[in-house]
Amino acid sequence: MRTTIRRSFVPLLALVALFSTPSYPADELKVVATTADLAAVARAVGGDDVEVTALARPAEDPHFVDAKPSFIRVVNQADVLIEGGASLEAGWLPPLLEGARNPRISAGAPGRVFAAQGLALLEVATQLDRSMGDVHPQGNPHFMLDPVAAKTVAESIRTAFCAVDRTRCSDYEAGLRAFREAVDAALADWQATLAPLRGTKVVTYHKDFDYFFQRFGMQVVDTLEPKPGIPPSPTHLTELVPKMRAEQVRLIVIEPFRERGNPDFVAQHTGARVLVLPAMPDGQDRPDYLALIDYDVRQVAAALGQTGATR
Ligand SMILES: [Zn+2]
Repeated sequence: MRTTIRRSFVPLLALVALFSTPSYPADELKVVATTADLAAVARAVGGDDVEVTALARPAEDPHFVDAKPSFIRVVNQADVLIEGGASLEAGWLPPLLEGARNPRISAGAPGRVFAAQGLALLEVATQLDRSMGDVHPQGNPHFMLDPVAAKTVAESIRTAFCAVDRTRCSDYEAGLRAFREAVDAALADWQATLAPLRGTKVVTYHKDFDYFFQRFGMQVVDTLEPKPGIPPSPTHLTELVPKMRAEQVRLIVIEPFRERGNPDFVAQHTGARVLVLPAMPDGQDRPDYLALIDYDVRQVAAALGQTGATR
């Protein structure tokens, strides 16, 4: 009888083995990141020891994520949860955490990472300002587009991985070291590429490329949104157009998920061009964090490098 059972199961097991990908060890750390950029850095640090799931899709506004019911199960099973913090996910993450009831990732647990911790954020209000938009109340949470900040975030992720999974801490230390070295090597190239554009003024749709442009010596002088998270208004755009002309702004940077009506209107009235710039790695054309920054640096250089002066 036992032989019969074995015979019937062997081909089945062989099939399972054949079609099972990828082949992680059974005790891999289950890591959940709110966004694709945090997930990419977690993969860089954790390598084969971790299985990372990003909740938001790469082309989704991280402030307004469509939180599916299936997310609760994913968060429930997580050993580590990585969030941006600084209210980036304030609109959609709290109900998920409540539903998931996972003490391993509760606030203060070793498996909970607030990426913003340890970073000096831009635009932190020094006093309560009720005219500010709703989505950046604790300062600008889009620091992941600064590769130097991403190194600090990688350190925080390493600390959590080591706390939760001490046996493989040396792997995570090695992953962190490799990530830092790769960023440092690429940073010199990126800075050289954008050096001729130092001081160039740009306008963005949302305040999410400020850290990126600041890192490379460029300046975001205004946004299409009057305040973070508040849609462009006719009043604001009629003020923005003469300001852009006066300051000779030649580039309007928008994320792939934005509407084009308002950016195109402003472009037509200022002579600036609209550049669609991704803010997240997508696992395909921009497979990891370094590929994302590299792509964005080259897109900005191409948009302003040769043609900018003639527009
Ligand atoms: Zn934002």
